[in-house]
Amino acid sequence: MRCPYCGSADTQVKDSRPAEDNSCIRRRRVCPVCGGRFTTFERVQLRELIVIKKSGRRAPFDRDKLMRSLEVALRKRPVDPERVEQMVNGVVRQLESFGDPDVHSSQIGELVIEGLRSLDPVAYVRFASVYRDFREAKDFNTLIDELVSAETEAPERESAQDASPEPARTGKAPERA
Ligand SMILES: [Zn+2]
Repeated sequence: MRCPYCGSADTQVKDSRPAEDNSCIRRRRVCPVCGGRFTTFERVQLRELIVIKKSGRRAPFDRDKLMRSLEVALRKRPVDPERVEQMVNGVVRQLESFGDPDVHSSQIGELVIEGLRSLDPVAYVRFASVYRDFREAKDFNTLIDELVSAETEAPERESAQDASPEPARTGKAPERA
């Protein structure tokens, strides 16, 4: 496994253990050249997904490529790599559950954006802005609005449903004598 920091071709496994209910093996690796440490996950691949890009070109789904784009979005963010793995697993499971091996790159992008929303707000904005190819400041503002409203969605909805023009009356309305 190539070192992601210095590109050295030979890295050493320091520790291997099952993760995520034994569905994969987590390996801690260290690079003898630069001392960089990183984690890899080994898992079963049940089905080959084919990605249809915007251009119409088809390519096998590349999990590593997706992980690299997430690493960029998550740079210097305090997110446990295992949570990122779980999020990507969730995305892949959803793609596989569509039942069609052909998936559109836009489907992947939207699933990842949804996953990042709960993982890290900064990474969410970074990824979405790159993925959706923002050109104007208002695109950012729209995204921030989405993020804020998503966080407050549930309580807002509830209160909107229950809202009445007057304060709710209790059963103890005073009776006139
Ligand atoms: Zn290295």
